[in-house]
Amino acid sequence: MAKRDYYEILGVGKSTPKDEIKKAYRKIAVKYHPDKNPDNPEAEEKFKEAAEAYEVLSDDQKRQQYDRFGHEGMRGAGGFGGGGGMSMDDIFSQFGDVFGGHNPFESFFGGGGSTRRSSGRRGSNLRIKIKLNLDEIAHGAEKKIKVNRLVVADGVTYKNCQTCGGTGQMRKVVNTMLGQMVSASTCHTCNGSGKIIDKRPHGVDNSGLMQKEELIDIKIPGGVEEGMQLSMSGKGNYGPNGGPPGDLLILVEEKPDELLKREGNNIVYDLYLNFVDAVLGTSVEIPTIDGKVKIKIEPGTQSGRILRLRGKGINDINGYGSGDQLIHVNIWTPKQVSKEEKTTLERLRESPNFTPKPGRNERSFFDRMKEFF
Ligand SMILES: [Zn+2]
Repeated sequence: MAKRDYYEILGVGKSTPKDEIKKAYRKIAVKYHPDKNPDNPEAEEKFKEAAEAYEVLSDDQKRQQYDRFGHEGMRGAGGFGGGGGMSMDDIFSQFGDVFGGHNPFESFFGGGGSTRRSSGRRGSNLRIKIKLNLDEIAHGAEKKIKVNRLVVADGVTYKNCQTCGGTGQMRKVVNTMLGQMVSASTCHTCNGSGKIIDKRPHGVDNSGLMQKEELIDIKIPGGVEEGMQLSMSGKGNYGPNGGPPGDLLILVEEKPDELLKREGNNIVYDLYLNFVDAVLGTSVEIPTIDGKVKIKIEPGTQSGRILRLRGKGINDINGYGSGDQLIHVNIWTPKQVSKEEKTTLERLRESPNFTPKPGRNERSFFDRMKEFF
């Protein structure tokens, strides 16, 4: 059978932009979805045809190739020129991108409607929490996480459901004043699949799935923050009756750092300075997210001063530059002094240099705030 033109299938033009193509595909996918068109091979064909067209036209390189050479050009280019087409699983996994993580079919049909499905329902999402330290948040991390998920079990044999005779539907004839009415509903024994498990190994549930502990590689980008949810498509539970897997949702939790505090993309550090160092100036080593850094403390540095290390904060997760490290200067006041120290300090107390002159020599709180922002 000759293939139809991809543009014609989606009802778009050669110059239609990508997002319009996505919209057009969404409409067709919803219209011809197998859940809405049970036992309708024509709808299924249209559904598959549209998915294939979208797969090509949504990819710049494939689209270019197709524009130049037509269906012939898709051979060997990761396309479908060989007539292989896409499997239902491919199509459903594509939905994550098309519908932005929200699969509308779940809400249409999640409640176990009265239609018989030619393919199983999508599996449920799995949710896990992941605790990250500041280093992992700042630089990203790769983690191996143990996840218990429902997977398709081996060694399961099926037989036709006896309750519904393999149709997946129960028909009931009801006598009413208007005559006989036939109502159909999903068979509760097989949940509409028409098949039930004949034999299953130990630990397999009655939809043919079993719990399995899997080690999953998770790549966390730098710049994530508390409460963010990352999603790995297809790493959730498999669905019953051959349904595609749901997603793995990863909730980010931040482990607070002992020394460095995160404020948005900025890092705040409380520096405690020896009073003598503040008077005479010094250089001190301070921690940053990229290791230790030496900074200079000018003679006469006031308590409450905020120093800024530009670009030493966290890289924005959306690529909007990076934050700074802010160093909050505190003068450490000793709580105990020796007799000798006390004598020295008593002598200094008399010096006019040690007497503050508020409003003239001091930088006010408001000046410091201006510097901060
Ligand atoms: Zn049944």
